[in-house]
Amino acid sequence: MKNEILMERSHYNADVANVSPGQTVTVAGWVRKRRDLGNLVFVDLYDRSAVLQVVFDPERNPELVDSASALTRETVLTVRGKVSSRPEEALNPDMITGRVELIADSFTIHSTSALPPIQMTGGPESNEELRLRYRYLDLRRSEMFQIFNVRHQTYQYVRSFYVENGFIEVTTPQLMRSTPEGARDFLVPSRLHFGSCYALPQSPQLMKQILMISAFDRYFQIARCFRDEDSRADRQPEFTQIDVEMSFTSIETLFAIHEKLFAGLFKSMLDLDIPTPFRRITWQNAMDWYGSDKPDLRFNMKIKDVTSIVSDSGIGFIDSVAAGGGVVRLVCYPDGAKLSRKQISELENVAKKRGANGMLAVKVTDGETISGTILEKKLSKEKQTLLLEVAEAKAGDLLCIVAGDRMTVSEALGDVRLEIAGRENLKSDEYEFVWVTEFPLVEYDPEDNRCYAMHHPFTAPMEEDLQYLDTDPVRCRAQAYDLVLNGVELGGGSVRIHKPELQQRMFAALGISKELAESQFGFFLEALKYGTPPHCGIAFGFDRLIMILAGTDNLRDVIAFPKTLQAVCLMTRAPSTVTDDQLNAVGLQRKPNSESSKTTKQN
Ligand code: ASP
Repeated sequence: MKNEILMERSHYNADVANVSPGQTVTVAGWVRKRRDLGNLVFVDLYDRSAVLQVVFDPERNPELVDSASALTRETVLTVRGKVSSRPEEALNPDMITGRVELIADSFTIHSTSALPPIQMTGGPESNEELRLRYRYLDLRRSEMFQIFNVRHQTYQYVRSFYVENGFIEVTTPQLMRSTPEGARDFLVPSRLHFGSCYALPQSPQLMKQILMISAFDRYFQIARCFRDEDSRADRQPEFTQIDVEMSFTSIETLFAIHEKLFAGLFKSMLDLDIPTPFRRITWQNAMDWYGSDKPDLRFNMKIKDVTSIVSDSGIGFIDSVAAGGGVVRLVCYPDGAKLSRKQISELENVAKKRGANGMLAVKVTDGETISGTILEKKLSKEKQTLLLEVAEAKAGDLLCIVAGDRMTVSEALGDVRLEIAGRENLKSDEYEFVWVTEFPLVEYDPEDNRCYAMHHPFTAPMEEDLQYLDTDPVRCRAQAYDLVLNGVELGGGSVRIHKPELQQRMFAALGISKELAESQFGFFLEALKYGTPPHCGIAFGFDRLIMILAGTDNLRDVIAFPKTLQAVCLMTRAPSTVTDDQLNAVGLQRKPNSESSKTTKQN
């Protein structure tokens, strides 16, 4: 019996909590901690479900206690023993298994561990670089397993939701044709076709549209996407999207389906009742009122336009802004009159960082008048009262006023608004979903002197704006929408262009010549000719969704083997140099002093 090799468990640790005392069970896992108390040895045994206290008791089993001294940290073992209720003074309500312990009868050590270089339990977390280097140990911590369990459950929920709603799951290729619109592609050189490259998909956009042409009608995929962008805290070069496309339907139906998805998911994962339908706001209103296309609606504090009130009062800079077609707007900082000069200038810096020339901070003295600035001197009493009315200000508030072009003012005050809410803790605990609709179709880039699609070039313009497409595309609004939650973009999509002529006009509006369109998207333009249904779709950032559901603000925490900000996997040291033979096979040559070879060498 003693020499028997124990392998399989009869119970996970967490389940032992429900086993009647006296019953024999076999558990398996890793030694998290060992405490020798006189003759007794206590081991905290970890498996993915919970930690269980295992007791080696000399009165019951003297030889076992001797061999228990070999149980160093992270040793892997299987233990058989009797479940016992803990004595009153040893109950631990913080542990799932805190009412029981296992009195060991026999155990098998499967392997031992080198001393873990990261903190496995308790105490402050090790620094992230170390955690990523030893990701296998980091993932062995229960905090991390919980996150991946949330991720796993979300996969299952999302999959069954779409299946129940008539969607079919299709896997689209990872080796694609490069279509250099949008972000930079990751390239995969081809060995069989010297000099040619595949590209990793930035999203399955064209494939899912083609599936609509193929009559698949409702498609979804939990898709891997790749974008070769410069490092940003909230981005990973590879990420996961919930990708969806639907034919013969409307924005209304797409919204309703996804409201049901998110309300159901948040109920199931967080036991939260999310009211539906979600709010909606046009892009223009989101920018005007909240200074962002990702408005955080957990607090109100709308931006107010006061151009007509403050202009023509002989305030030089305001009059010239107004004459140039600019605007004067404000946010009202509740009880902000108490701010010190330094605090006000910090707030002004927030606005300046977003391009504002400055910010006028006006204290509201008694609810009817303002004090301390040029406005007080130049504005009539009536205008001051009107200004405060529009600002919905009360005594003790601070008006933060910015003048300039509409976009700069919106963005600057949008940031000021967020800064105030952060400082004053104004955000409620609610989950405020909102659809942002009617995005601009294109954005003009003065540097390149051309327009770029705001969403992507396959997005349909709004019917009523089609008239501007050829002459003034910047005026066109798109049938595009984002879903935003508490200031975070969860996803976005659009109604697609389903007529080849319109798609050609869109390419022309983007300054993409017929020849270029043909060479890059010829296959797609051809497909459009073969009976394309009206269709629309959306994609949601899966990793970001998991961050919200798991309550972490670190994107890397929800990806099993993430890359650093420098796009490096610290565990495997990818990317790495490859041999000359490998390069030769795909027709590439190393350029010893080039920038890119420097980057790979560092890693
Ligand atoms: N493919 C788009 C994206 O990745 C989403 C969509 O339009 O469905 O952003």
